Amino acid sequence: MPSTEPSPALPTALAALVTLVALAVGLTLPDVDLRLGLGHRSALTHSLLPALLPLVWRQRAAACGIAAGVGVHLAADCFPRRMIGYATVKLPLLGALSPLESYAWLALNAAAALLLAAWCARRLHAPLARALVGVAALAAALRYLWHDPGGWPVLALVGAATVAVVRGRSSSRARGGGGPKG
Ligand SMILES: [Zn+2]
Repeated sequence: MPSTEPSPALPTALAALVTLVALAVGLTLPDVDLRLGLGHRSALTHSLLPALLPLVWRQRAAACGIAAGVGVHLAADCFPRRMIGYATVKLPLLGALSPLESYAWLALNAAAALLLAAWCARRLHAPLARALVGVAALAAALRYLWHDPGGWPVLALVGAATVAVVRGRSSSRARGGGGPKG
């Protein structure tokens, strides 16, 4: 019998590709509510739900990308010009959430989606593929945020957090690594 065992490189590359395509889809996926007649900023699409569905079918690579894309989209949606009318989240049957509830809904679901994406990426992708997917995801996210009016505050927040982390790391390294030399 000839061996039909697949080489591990192919599924790895395929999983990375699926994640990237899913990310591109996930970035704009929440706004399909406009076409589905769900009412804009439907809680069904502006939530973790679109990322959980592929998990139900054990499509972790797809879930990973969709979670990342939806997370970025929801983070940008946290910064409308005013959180009224169109911008608030609409629950099926129950109607619009208040502005405060809408902020909380979008922020919590954005954080949950990004955490799910990071968790899936850790479990799914080897370090090299993870790094490549991470860079591509970052580029796609920056491009989306750059073109979205709500994206600029997110970029500012991410920039500030990055500076804080880098500073914290370099100062702790200076403290911890500064043993006697020579
Ligand atoms: Zn949206």
